[in-house]
Amino acid sequence: MMEKKQIDWANIGFGYMKTDYRYVSNYKNGAWGEGGLTTDDTITMSECAGVLQYAQTVFEGLKAYTTEDGHIVMFRPDLNAARMVDSAKRLEMPPFPEERFLEAVTEVVKANAAYVPPYGSGASLYIRPYMFGTNPVIGVKPADEYQFRTFVTPVGPYFKGGAKPITIKVSDFDRAAPHGTGHIKAGLNYAMSLHAIVTAHEEGFAENMYLDAATRTKVEETGGANFIFVTKDNKVVTPKSDSILPSITRRSILHVAKEYLGLEVEEREVFFDEVKDFAECGLCGTAAVISPVGKIVDHGTEICLPSGMEEMGRVTKRLYETLTGIQMGRIEAPEGWIKVVE
Ligand SMILES: *Cc1c(COP(=O)(O)O)cnc(C)c1O
Repeated sequence: MMEKKQIDWANIGFGYMKTDYRYVSNYKNGAWGEGGLTTDDTITMSECAGVLQYAQTVFEGLKAYTTEDGHIVMFRPDLNAARMVDSAKRLEMPPFPEERFLEAVTEVVKANAAYVPPYGSGASLYIRPYMFGTNPVIGVKPADEYQFRTFVTPVGPYFKGGAKPITIKVSDFDRAAPHGTGHIKAGLNYAMSLHAIVTAHEEGFAENMYLDAATRTKVEETGGANFIFVTKDNKVVTPKSDSILPSITRRSILHVAKEYLGLEVEEREVFFDEVKDFAECGLCGTAAVISPVGKIVDHGTEICLPSGMEEMGRVTKRLYETLTGIQMGRIEAPEGWIKVVE
């Protein structure tokens, strides 16, 4: 195995660090080119590129990490590959073939194995595949040429010193319109959420809870994570909506709840009025796996989850430990969940 870089793994935070290799493939004349690794971390393209004018870009996010027995693995990358196809189609972009996506992320991780944090450090290698329109577009239409690219960057443990519950607010802004693009992983969904998150942070909240834009009565998600709730009788409930991004972490948590912990799970509309009756709340996504929520503030009215502000709720914690145990190779994974890189 390649010698690891000298990095203070426990203290790198969640930021971009340039690594040695990235994967690039270009789409031109109706076909994806062969593609391959490059050391060039810059992109040169037309000042009028479709991505720059009309935000034609979609992305993915997943992690590679070292398991207890010393392998470098990725968690369910096939689902990221499939989701990126869905995202691309919605923005009229040529999908990057799923098998090629898997080859590309595997190649980049292998080439940057020296940046994969060691087991037990709490850190991991974040993988960012994305694609964007590169040729000049001034009249509004899809680009004809695209680039698919994947870089990796080591990221530190999401929670330093344990996962403390966060306080979030019900946002006055909407994240996604009915029949819009909320269900795809597109940069445009994030651009429009920046003002809302900066405002929330200024007011002292860690995140926004977005409600459904049409009626403002149902829970959707935060800017970058899905909700799970636990009822007082230990049922795991997650909102169902066409404008929520289908989180791979959330889908995995539901499976773990049902098949590993024997809990009842419900994927259904969740009305904001019900939230005060839940016992636990968490945010799920690749970055933190689960962030516990202790308090939800709706225009001055506080909902304090019974699990409190000191630690994860009891069920949330079992879900978190089981899922991270599966990811780290301490608990046997369902067939196909763990892709060994080397
Ligand atoms: C990426 C993302 C998530 C989390 O999805 P995972 O597949 O679990 O990482 C949730 N919501 C939004 C809006 C996202 O972009």
